Amino acid sequence: RGTPALQVVEWSDVVGWWPRLGPSSEKYSRGVVGVATGSRTYPGAAVLSVAGALAGPTGLVRYAGGARSDVVRRHPSVIATDRVAGAGRVQAWVCGSGLGTGEQAAAELRAVLAAPVPVVLDADALTLLVDGSLADRLRDRDAPIVVTPHDREFTRLCGEEPGADRVAAVLRLAAWMNATVLLKGDRTVIGTPDGRAYVNPTGSPALATGGTGDVLAGLLGSLLAAGLAPEQAAATAAYLHGLAGRQAARGGPVTAPDVAAALRPVIAPLLD
Ligand code: AMP
Ligand code: MG
Repeated sequence: RGTPALQVVEWSDVVGWWPRLGPSSEKYSRGVVGVATGSRTYPGAAVLSVAGALAGPTGLVRYAGGARSDVVRRHPSVIATDRVAGAGRVQAWVCGSGLGTGEQAAAELRAVLAAPVPVVLDADALTLLVDGSLADRLRDRDAPIVVTPHDREFTRLCGEEPGADRVAAVLRLAAWMNATVLLKGDRTVIGTPDGRAYVNPTGSPALATGGTGDVLAGLLGSLLAAGLAPEQAAATAAYLHGLAGRQAARGGPVTAPDVAAALRPVIAPLLD
């Protein structure tokens, strides 16, 4: 194989991909994203991924999981249920962070994977894939999958570290899983199963703090539910998330809620 095409994500790409509101937009036509993250033990992961989803272009965010009371208290516009199966119509799911890795978490992951819509799998969902030997079974799923590992999660999924050539590593995993892979880091790399790759130039070391990945996953899910192609959604989410990290860092030490809050001014110019 020759050198793969590598596209550096630019603001103009994001402008082109971001869905525009029109006078006839209504909440359902803007898309409905489902968030199946967090648990009674880890309600913060749910609150953060929902915050990321709420910053995105969808008209409605649904939450399913053990942190529903925390989610609704923090985000009253969210419709919450205990289980993915009871959530109602959703056009993309986000599953993983803070979910846990027990029987109930595995059942929720299976419910998400059974839905015929795009899914984002992160954190505990990736652990469940490896432990349940599910990763190679995803190959047969029709609707798109985006996995969002950091380096340690990538290593567990892949069986080897990303190494120096992160683009090649991402493309190998993407082809094997038949999924879009977003490998987080200083320069987040995105690869598609058919061999296209993107690199995000907006990262900020300020993002190296707990919970920022949950915000990213939520935003990415919203973009999928709004109809962006998996690699466009992943590239857009990484780009805006990086800008939000930089913006948040201007106010001092950054926490994940600051990143979610900073998405709003970063995204504002896209809404004109
Ligand atoms: P997670 O480890 O799942 O919480 O995700 C961490 C987030 O922070 C990802 O979006 C990473 O791309 C980002 N991040 C972590 N470290 C850095 C860094 N040194 N430079 C830029 N972005 C980073
Ligand atoms: Mg994470």
